Amino acid sequence: MPLYEYECPNCNTTFDAFRLVAERRNEICSCGTPATIVIGGNVAVHIFTPYYSKALGRWLGNRQEKEAHLKANHLVEVPDVGIEDLEKEAARIKKQEDKIAYKKEEVEFCNKWQDMNG
Ligand SMILES: [Zn+2]
Repeated sequence: MPLYEYECPNCNTTFDAFRLVAERRNEICSCGTPATIVIGGNVAVHIFTPYYSKALGRWLGNRQEKEAHLKANHLVEVPDVGIEDLEKEAARIKKQEDKIAYKKEEVEFCNKWQDMNG
């Protein structure tokens, strides 16, 4: 079962909780407000989560078997985040890239202006 990091939009409390993947979005803060998952926060699989191997065509029974399988097939486990989370993260990165591009243009403009005006 994965450990998720949550943040409360009401009282700004952050806390960790072990939750089933299917129930990860149903977390309620102690103040009664639905909490949101912190993107890029703690998402650690501390307890074995059943893993289905497409290569072997069967479920793997324990953590050692899973780790050996991942290693043998050069696979990396990624945190379980929903597609909405990935889209949010992509949008955040895009915004930063836009800011950087704007800043670059600004600097180039200033340099040109200085060149022209000695
Ligand atoms: Zn709260």
